[in-house]
This record gives sequence, C-alpha cells and structure tokens, in this order.
Amino acid sequence: MKKIGKYSFGIGDRFAHQGHAQLSALLKAQKGGIEVTPVWNKSNREHMYVHSNPADTRKEADQAVKELGYKGEYCVDADHINLGNVENFIHSSDFFTIDVASKIGILATPADVETFVSSCAAYTGKLTIPNIIHPFDVNKALLEKIAGKFLTAITEAGNIYRFIRDRKGSDDFVTEISMDEVETPQSPVELFFILKMVANQGIPAQTIAPKFTGRFNKGVDYVGDVAMFAKEFEEDILVIDYAVKEFQLMDNLKLSVHSGSDKFSIYPEIQRIITKYDKGIHVKTAGTTWLEEVIGLAVSGGEALKAAKFIYAQALSRQEELCAPYADVIDIKADQLPSAEEVSTWSSEKFAHTLRHIPGHPDYNANLRQLIHVGYKIASEMGTYYTDLLKANKDVIGQCVEENIYDRHLKRLFKL
Ligand SMILES: [Zn+2]
Repeated sequence: MKKIGKYSFGIGDRFAHQGHAQLSALLKAQKGGIEVTPVWNKSNREHMYVHSNPADTRKEADQAVKELGYKGEYCVDADHINLGNVENFIHSSDFFTIDVASKIGILATPADVETFVSSCAAYTGKLTIPNIIHPFDVNKALLEKIAGKFLTAITEAGNIYRFIRDRKGSDDFVTEISMDEVETPQSPVELFFILKMVANQGIPAQTIAPKFTGRFNKGVDYVGDVAMFAKEFEEDILVIDYAVKEFQLMDNLKLSVHSGSDKFSIYPEIQRIITKYDKGIHVKTAGTTWLEEVIGLAVSGGEALKAAKFIYAQALSRQEELCAPYADVIDIKADQLPSAEEVSTWSSEKFAHTLRHIPGHPDYNANLRQLIHVGYKIASEMGTYYTDLLKANKDVIGQCVEENIYDRHLKRLFKL
C-alpha cells in the first residue's frame, strides 16, 4: 500500500501551471531539514469550473517532478470525491479524499446501530484517553446518538473505499476520509467512535479531516477562538493516537486540515502540538496558489496588470453568482470592496499589496481577497488568453507562488 509521509502538503492548482513553483517551495523546506510530501489535490467541483480533468493534474505533477529531478514520494489527490464522481479519478490519482459529509445525520437501520453499539461495549463508563485530563462519560445513549449521526456516512466511506480498490485492482493508494464541509464540528469523543466505525469497515485511512471549531473562510485567516481550536486539535491528536492502538488502524493515521488556505494564526498552534507529540500532519491550501497567480499578473504590469484588474471588475459585477457556491465559507463585507473604477487606477504595487495576504499591511483587504478567491471562474472563461498570460509571465508568477508557499506557509507550519 502507498503510505504517505509524516508531513504532507496539499498544493492544489486551479489551472495546473504552477506545479514547478509549488514543488520548488517544498524542496526548499527539504533543504531546511523538513521533508514534506507534495500532494496535488483537486476536487471534482474545481475540475468542472475550469473544464479540466484529473489526468491534467497527474500530468502537471509528473512534469514538475521530472523538471526538478525530485526523487521523493508525491501524490495526486482526488479531492472530495464520492461514488458519483470518483470514476474519472481512478487512473490518475493515488490519493483519494472520500467525502461523506452529505451522509452525516442519515439514520442507519436499528439493527446496524445495535451492532455498532455492542461493538463498543468495552468503552462505556469513564473513557480515559492518555494525556487528556478529563475522562469522557460514555453510555449507551451517547453511542446511539453518535451512531445515528455518523454510521451511515462511514458505511458509505467503506463502500467508496472498496469501489476504488476494486476499480484500481489494488490497495496501492492513500485513503483520506473527510467530514469537514459541514456546519457543526465533530467533538473528540465523536472522532474516537468515528474511528471505531472506520476500523469496523476495514478502511485503511491514513488521513482524516474533521470539521474543526471556528470559521475557515476561503483565502483568509482563521476566524474564531484560537485557544479553543488548539484544545480541540490536541485532543483529536490524542484520540487518534489511542484509536490507532485500540482499533488497529494504520499506524501513520494523521489529521488533515482543509484550511481553505492561509490559516496563519492557527499554524503556530498546529506546529506546537504536532511537535509536542511527535505527530504528522496534512494541510490542504489549494486556493492560495490561484491568488498568487493574480498577484503575479499584477506585479508583471502592462497587459497582465490589466487582466488582473479585469478579473476583479468582473468578479465585482458577478459577485452574487460567484459567491453562491461558497456562501458558507466566505464573509465579504460588500461596502469594503473598492469600485472597479478605483482599482483601474491602481499601480502594480497597490494591487499586489491589497491582494497579498500580509496581515497588518495597511493596503491588505481581506474582502477583495475573498472575492478574487471565488472568482477563478472568470479566469477560466478567459481561456487561453489567461493561460497565455501565465506562460508569458511565468517567472514572476512562479516566484510569487514559491515565496507564498515557503515563506508564509511552510515556515510558519514547520518552524523553518
Ligand atoms: Zn475540504
């Protein structure tokens, strides 16, 4: 079975042009002594919006690896797939993020619930998890509640896992289970019994993505109580550690943080906690690279700057349409968006400083940044006009992409 390394980073890329720059950033971390496995992730939704297909992601990854002479492991992640859309990803992917969020809360049959609850008999009463101070009170009612909420979802994850394994004809791939795209976070005690279900299904999960406390808005920093996040994150790590031993799960099972990009204020906490317990982590930050493309275009000036301004103006006039699919993961204050007329007068520097994620920079505007984050459909509609600009300004854009991933993400996450 393909096994993912201790640290891995999801470097999705909307238009499949930045593989080289992304891998360069990870290789820079390697020089600093931290080996981070690159994982090129792309969801079905993204493929649909930009009219690409999973084979393009594989091509991009293979090409970057070849160009840079990279000898380590890497993966291509079929991100957020389900039974309805996984088929297209079977051949090109070797990492599958099985998304069962839509099945959470669908009741299982009473017989299945009963079977699950009795399989947990050993954990009723005071459940003590090493290093978590307060034991959890576990009784039949709690188990029934957890089964009612999650059993159907994890049973579905088992069906999807077996479908992929059968279609690939082997288990030589990495399996992630994701439940992050829901409103309510899963508590650590829920996670423990979810992992019991994963074990009962025989899914060799190597990463799991719960929904964490707080808001993970697209492209901007974490909004919420960092201390509360840290407590939950630490307990999740301890729960996983204990569950791996109790349920004979994969010994490299680790948390996957679907960051929605750029959750800088929780990175130091993640860093502190994984170091404290010597644990691995997977972080997905797909959209951040698309934003760096627009920044790189702006910095390049001339026709490229005009294109960046065009993307903003279009996104502004089509705000409702572009924001609708992301309504739950963005918070844009419309009155703080500059007008297209104003932006049309901006210099390269002014545009870049407004969009670039440097918290505290006087020009930085998180509202404009979120709007452009969801505006990649505009670039997709520009077709080869857009991708030709990416090619013509590849050095400047590549530098922006690499600097962003290395300086703003990897340095913070791994204390480089
Ligand atoms: Zn996600």
